[in-house]
Amino acid sequence: MDQQLPKHDCRNFVKKVFLVLDGELPETERNLFIMDIQRCKGCLEHFHIEKTFKDFIAAKVERKDCSEKLKQTIISQVQSNPET
Ligand SMILES: [Zn+2]
Repeated sequence: MDQQLPKHDCRNFVKKVFLVLDGELPETERNLFIMDIQRCKGCLEHFHIEKTFKDFIAAKVERKDCSEKLKQTIISQVQSNPET
């Protein structure tokens, strides 16, 4: 049986990105979110954040301080993309 994932919503994606960046999502939800974005190539490609985002998550997991810089990078990448 497939894991229960919340319905993917590309518009919700940006909101969730911010929640994850702010550390507002508990680890379980963060993991769900990571699986969620990996299901949607559109989001990853549209926002060009796949690599940065994964770096951010990895840094977070390892509790590295460089995540602040990555966070800013992701925010500017997400915000600089016009709606298509
Ligand atoms: Zn999407």
